[in-house]
Amino acid sequence: MSGERSKQWLGASHGGDNIVAVATPAGSGAIGIVRVSGPDLTRVANVVLGGTPPARQGVLSFFRDEHGSVIDQGIALFFPAPESFTGEHVLELQGHGGPAVLARLVRTCIALGARSAEPGEFAFRAFLNDKIDLAQAEGIADLIAAGTEEAARCAVRSLTGDFSRAIESLCRELVDLRVWVEGTLDFPDEEIEFLESSSALGRLQRVRDRIAETIAASRQGSLLREGIRVVLAGPPNVGKSSLLNRLAGEAVAIVTDIPGTTRDPIRQILQIRGVPMHVIDTAGLRESSDVVERLGIERAWSAIENADVVVLIREAGVTQCRGEPWVEKLPSSLPQIEVVNKIDLTGETPCRADLAGRVRVRLSALTGAGIAILEDALLAAVGWQGREEGLFMARERHLEALRAAETLLAEAENEGRHLELMAEQLRLAHDALTSILGQSTPDDLLGEIFSRFCIGK
Ligand code: GDP
Repeated sequence: MSGERSKQWLGASHGGDNIVAVATPAGSGAIGIVRVSGPDLTRVANVVLGGTPPARQGVLSFFRDEHGSVIDQGIALFFPAPESFTGEHVLELQGHGGPAVLARLVRTCIALGARSAEPGEFAFRAFLNDKIDLAQAEGIADLIAAGTEEAARCAVRSLTGDFSRAIESLCRELVDLRVWVEGTLDFPDEEIEFLESSSALGRLQRVRDRIAETIAASRQGSLLREGIRVVLAGPPNVGKSSLLNRLAGEAVAIVTDIPGTTRDPIRQILQIRGVPMHVIDTAGLRESSDVVERLGIERAWSAIENADVVVLIREAGVTQCRGEPWVEKLPSSLPQIEVVNKIDLTGETPCRADLAGRVRVRLSALTGAGIAILEDALLAAVGWQGREEGLFMARERHLEALRAAETLLAEAENEGRHLELMAEQLRLAHDALTSILGQSTPDDLLGEIFSRFCIGK
C-alpha cells in the first residue's frame, strides 16, 4: 500500500464507517463467516436478520438480501461496542461456506451502506480503539501465518500480551530513570551526588541487561517465523537431491545418475524440531555452456548469497572439494557445514568433526545414517537453542527498535556526568521502545503493517 493510500485508509477508519469482509478462507467449506464492524449496524441487522440479535448469543436465523430473498440460514452473533474485537459494534454471520453465499452476503451488506474492508482493517480498528497494541496485532498476523506448532505457541505469547508486557516493563524502568535524571537537571550542583546516591548508573545497566535478554529471546523467536535458509551445494552427483529427499522425508527432487539434471533451486519448507527450514537444492555448480543449466547456476548463486548456512557436499573417499572454483567464491561470512556423503560405500561411521571455521558431518543420504547429526549442526549453525518456551516472535522492526534502545542506553552510560545528554539519550531510547507498541509509530508504517494482514482480520 502506498503511503498516500495508507493515509487515506487511516483517515477513513477514523471516520468510523461500517466495514464488511469474509473472515474465512476462500473456497468451499462447512461454515463461512462474514464479519461486519462499525458504529451503527442497525440497518444491516434489520434487513439481513429482521432485527438486532441479543448481545453475545448465537441466534439461528435466515439471512436475507436487501430485497427480502433468503440467502442462507445460519447463526448470527452480535457483539455490541465496546465489548468486541474491534471495539465497535460487530456482527458475525456464520453461514454455509460456499463462495456464492458469502459473496451475496457481502454484497447485501455493501448495498446497506458498508464498504469492503481493507486487509487487516478489523485488527487496525482494534488497535485504534486500544483493544490491542501494535505488537499484539502483529502477533495475530504471525499466529495466522505460523507454519509449525512451536511458531504458533510463540506467536500466541505476543497476541496475549506477554511480549508487550515485557516491553512495557522496560519502558516503566526507563521512565523512572528519566524522572530522576530530568528532575536533577534543575539542580546542577547535585548532579554528581545524584549519580552516586541514586545508583542511577547501576539501574541503567540493569535496563541494558534486560534489553539484551529480550533481544536474545526475540532473535530466537524470529527464527521460528522466518525459518532457516539452507543451501545444499556441491558438484553434480554427490547426492544433493538424495539428501534433500532424506531431510524432507519424501521425494521432491528428481534423482538421476546424469550430472546436471537438477536445474532449479527447488525450495522445500521442512521443519526440523519445529524450526521451519527452507532448503534450497542447487543446480550443480559447475561451468556450463547449456543456457538452461547456466540459468540454474545463476539462481544457485543468488540463493547462496541470501542463505543462513551453506551445506557443502562431497562424496566419501573423494578428496576435498576445496580446489573446485565455486567453493572459493563462497562468501566467507556464511557458516558452512561440510557433508561427506555416501559413507555406506566406504564403511565409515556417521560422525561430526569441528574444523577451523566449519563443521564436517559424515553421513549417508541413502541409508539415513548421520542425518540427525546434520540436523543438529544445522540448528546450531543459526544459534537455535533448542527450546521455544519464553521466546517472543519478534519481527525485524521490534529487533531494530530494541537494538536502537540498547545502543542509546550504552551512549547514555558513556555520557557519564553530562546529565543533559544522558536525559536526551534516555528519552530517545524510551521512544524506540514505545514504537514497538505503536505509541509513537508513523501512520505510513501502521498502514504498511496492517496492509499485510489477510482480509477479514
Ligand atoms: P546430485 O546430482 O548431487 O543431486 O546427486 P543425486 O542425489 O542425484 O545422487 C546421485 C547418485 O548418487 C544417485 O544414484 C543416488 O542414488 C546416489 N547416492 C546419493 N546419496 C547416496 C548415498 O548416501 N550412498 C550411495 N551409495 N549412493 C548415494
